[in-house]
Amino acid sequence: MREPFRISNGEVAARDAILIEINTDAGIGWGEAAPMPGTFYSHDTPESTWEFVRQRLAPAFLEHPEFDLSRLSAWLNEFEGESFAKAGLEGAVCDLFANVASKPLWQILGGSSRAVESGAAIGLMPTVADLSDRVQKFLSEGYRRIKIKIAPGHDVELVRAVRQRFGGIPLMVDANASYTLDHISVFRELDRFQLMMIEQPLAREAIAEHAELQRRLRTPLCLDESADSVAAIEEIIRLRSGRVLNIKVQRMGGLFASRRAHDLAQSAGIPCWMGTMPELGIASAQGLHLATLSNFTFPTDIEASARWYVDDIISPQITLAAQGSIRLPGGPGMGYVVDEEKVAQYRLRFEELRA
Ligand code: MG
Repeated sequence: MREPFRISNGEVAARDAILIEINTDAGIGWGEAAPMPGTFYSHDTPESTWEFVRQRLAPAFLEHPEFDLSRLSAWLNEFEGESFAKAGLEGAVCDLFANVASKPLWQILGGSSRAVESGAAIGLMPTVADLSDRVQKFLSEGYRRIKIKIAPGHDVELVRAVRQRFGGIPLMVDANASYTLDHISVFRELDRFQLMMIEQPLAREAIAEHAELQRRLRTPLCLDESADSVAAIEEIIRLRSGRVLNIKVQRMGGLFASRRAHDLAQSAGIPCWMGTMPELGIASAQGLHLATLSNFTFPTDIEASARWYVDDIISPQITLAAQGSIRLPGGPGMGYVVDEEKVAQYRLRFEELRA
């Protein structure tokens, strides 16, 4: 990575991912499972996901291959947890399905060919001046909104500095679950800065407390860490814990589970956006296809490949077009092609299973 991905409770400096290639007589499909190393971000790690895929998920799939996509999603649901592994396998089957049908992936998912607006996310910076420089850089690159990470003790003064220098730009903050209701005075202050939303202020399981906080603020709350399953999203909707949802394909366990979350939110009048871990090119590209669904109304966190990575494994790389949006390249499947030479070059492990 060009710089470490840093949030309030940890950081990572290189990106591991498990790529799943399904190779059939009819065609091939690629998927990506992209948990973070360590356990600061999720319970799943590259090690645990690799073992689950090779020992259980892939052998089970090869025994009874399922190419009907809605049945596949139901089948994946029968495995407990392991959302990253499920997203990786489902992504590969969806890509295969789209390639064989000669259709773009968005068409399989019920999306459209529209461009997807992209927003830049900025981690915790050592100084306010560093943060300001970063905001300037991303605005000049065309990103459609700026998100800054906050943590207790590093919040109001960061927002104030950005507002003073950059005026009324589309701005939001992400707390990564690092506050409690005892910090209400911080949120009251943040509430004065016309933020688009405050993302995940409280703990993941604090769904009722988020509802309490939302009642006391004008600024919409966006749930991210809390929105980790269809059941959790139903609870969030029922309690009115937030007015926006961040949906992440890897966390939801695949494209179809994410689509179901999107549809539930849409029925409840809650707009969404497509979040990211961030992933490598395969999962990013598949997320972009899903992000063309109509209730993904806020800019996505999926950024240009060069934002995070010295190199990426797809061709072309993901880039920002005019007006800070990402235009899918067209053609069947993802539109982007997996660069197999690069995959071989960066590969740490390889295993082949046969039906
Ligand atoms: Mg977040």
